[in-house]
Amino acid sequence: MLFGKVRWEEMFPDELDAALERCPVVYLTYGLCEPHGPYNAVGLDALKVHRLACRAAQEHGGVVAPPFFWHVHEIGIEARWAHDTIGDRNPWLTDVAPWVLYRMFLYHLRAAAARGFRAAIVLSGHAPYGEDLARVSEIFARHSPLRVWAGQDSEVTDHPASNGGHAGKYETSIFWALRPDLVDMSRLERGGGRVLATGTDADESSRRLGERLVEERVAWLGRKARELLEEYRAPDRPDAPAPGNPLGALTFDATERIWRDEVRPMLGELVSFQEPETRVEPGSPWAPNETCELYD
Ligand SMILES: [Zn+2]
Repeated sequence: MLFGKVRWEEMFPDELDAALERCPVVYLTYGLCEPHGPYNAVGLDALKVHRLACRAAQEHGGVVAPPFFWHVHEIGIEARWAHDTIGDRNPWLTDVAPWVLYRMFLYHLRAAAARGFRAAIVLSGHAPYGEDLARVSEIFARHSPLRVWAGQDSEVTDHPASNGGHAGKYETSIFWALRPDLVDMSRLERGGGRVLATGTDADESSRRLGERLVEERVAWLGRKARELLEEYRAPDRPDAPAPGNPLGALTFDATERIWRDEVRPMLGELVSFQEPETRVEPGSPWAPNETCELYD
């Protein structure tokens, strides 16, 4: 571990100034509370990517933004999945509608650029929405010098076979390695067996396998961070003045324009809005938010 403190919210201003000077990369992490079987703490998706980002920043430099624990659920393909794997149990979700998240996300990128970061690595612990965050990031990057890579944690590896399966062997092993205090395999049987979105191969999980997968991912993230910094070009002329940043930043008005003119019109193309192959039964508790028409 080369760099000690990396969590933005826990650092003193002088520590942040020095970290930015050393390595102007910020990690933005997204997840939510969602059942991952009875044996994983519900915050898995968000906790996993946040801790992974902290490991990467400790080894390769950078700052990790406060974790964001609210993500897309209930709508589109989630309704069918939740009906089948969670059923009529309290899912303890911390979910928001997709357009709420993506508009907020634009502001997160804007703030990252405004604070002087040159590159951002955006990790979604909740799949398959890394793809949506990547689409929004691409649009943002046309208006800002900030270089952005966005995706889900399952992509940050040279061995994509070591993936797959909600709360299954791989995801559970990784979480076990990162947060041993929040995985309790004895609950798999005690919790009533394969309930609450249990992964099919969850019983093959191991902390040691997780350690290896984490190491691989940390190395991948370090390489990606260096790549993004090399791609960075300072803008020819500064944006609107921003405190402590001679390059300035996009204003709220400019950010709203990006939302209104470019992101909002393509929302229908995002994974979040995909229609499931078969709709859930009208009597299901997951039916009411499977589609939504009133949004802007
Ligand atoms: Zn997950």
